[in-house]
Amino acid sequence: MKYCQGTRCHTYDTKDRKKGSKDNKRNETRKRSSFYYGNGNFCSLNCQTDWFNTHGDNAINHFGRVEQPIVLTEANAWQKQYNYDWYDNQDTQQRYHEVNTITRATRECEQ
Ligand SMILES: [Zn+2]
Repeated sequence: MKYCQGTRCHTYDTKDRKKGSKDNKRNETRKRSSFYYGNGNFCSLNCQTDWFNTHGDNAINHFGRVEQPIVLTEANAWQKQYNYDWYDNQDTQQRYHEVNTITRATRECEQ
């Protein structure tokens, strides 16, 4: 079991966050075996956004802020895509090919 990493998770007033009885009623951070958001770290998009609003700037500065554009050039622009010619030409064409998103050139690739 693990806790949602949302910094305000405990402030969302839902039944499943309520713990304790009479004298020590409280809301707690959600605890689950798995979560769907943020690589399994958050119980909701709200909690993911709360975490980013609290820690995002520090995290970006720690791991490296993008200070100039990240560039896609002809050399690293090959992407595997569905080959639309394949449907009508299955004996001569391959189902997938690589397209260079800069030059629009195509080439064969592993299927
Ligand atoms: Zn949460």
